[in-house]
Amino acid sequence: MRASTAALIVAAGRGTRVGGAVPKQWRPLSGQTVAAHALGAFARHSQIDHLVLVVHPDDRPSQPWPGDTGAQIVTGAATRQGSVLAGLTAIEGQFDRVLIHDAARPCVSAQVISSVLAALDTAPAAAPALAVVDALWQGDGTHVAGTRDRSGLYRAQTPQGFDLAAILAAHRRFDAEAADDVEIARHAGLPVTIVPGDEDNLKITRAADFARAERILGHRMDMRLGNGYDVHRFGPGDHVVLCGVTIPFERGLQGHSDADVGMHAVSDAIYGALAEGDIGRHFPPTDPQWKGAASAIFLRHAVDLAATRGYEIGNVDCTLVCELPKIGPHAPAMRAEMARLMGIGIDRISVKATTSERLGFTGRGEGIAALATVTLASR
Ligand code: MG
Repeated sequence: MRASTAALIVAAGRGTRVGGAVPKQWRPLSGQTVAAHALGAFARHSQIDHLVLVVHPDDRPSQPWPGDTGAQIVTGAATRQGSVLAGLTAIEGQFDRVLIHDAARPCVSAQVISSVLAALDTAPAAAPALAVVDALWQGDGTHVAGTRDRSGLYRAQTPQGFDLAAILAAHRRFDAEAADDVEIARHAGLPVTIVPGDEDNLKITRAADFARAERILGHRMDMRLGNGYDVHRFGPGDHVVLCGVTIPFERGLQGHSDADVGMHAVSDAIYGALAEGDIGRHFPPTDPQWKGAASAIFLRHAVDLAATRGYEIGNVDCTLVCELPKIGPHAPAMRAEMARLMGIGIDRISVKATTSERLGFTGRGEGIAALATVTLASR
């Protein structure tokens, strides 16, 4: 079985060196906060099982939390070390390993996260770093007073990854001030493996760093596309439910749930974009609790799963294929209902219909088919 991993994002700092009264991790960056970008990078990573966001006690009541990533919010302490310890204590015994990451590094890539995780397969601690390539000077602020040998020197980054029990024990024993968690791990005798860092994994420190981070994130926006297809057969009844709208009709659609073929196709397209199978995988038809279920449950689940992975719905295009009932008059209500369920603007949802020229099963009026395409965008 693969090791379970939690990501602990430390966002309790008061750092306002970048200017302004708001701590840097809560300042806007490419449409969301710096901390939300850092969280999103871990939320999207398939090997991260749990997110912990450590926040300053003063931030709790007023900040808009990136809560839909499903992060566990933990109140931090006056120092970074204290905050990390609070976060580790909150998940004690629940995971095999933990990645500790600074919220002020919003551009961390999946590759860097994967490298740390891979190293943890054979080591109790691992962290990304970049070898120092520039010459190093000693100086007095005005003049160069000497040079230093740069060989064997690295610039440390995060996430720093550890065996959870080992780093928690190390933190509890450590009573001095440390530069980072690697120092605490080493003090406890844990060997720390160095993995390649990334120049783009910058720590936002100065005002100019925001512009650089915006450029990096802008180039990296992750788009996903999914398609869905579904068919339901006509049977006895007096109405059909299509894209959440009940339409009186001389027959009904047969199916385990409410047989909303349109909403099923849209839900499957979202699952498809996430590479998460289809409705049947998440709501097995063999399970009696989903008999007659409103398909809104499936759609909400798919949208929530996308949000948990750090994606929002870009747009939806759904085509219903049938001779009857006539879809056109109901399309605006269908768009409005799906927009409401998905929490996005109606201008992002298209519902259209076609006949199949009386050809095939839809043409003979034996059932209704639906196709859907969705895009997801990383946030
Ligand atoms: Mg179906």
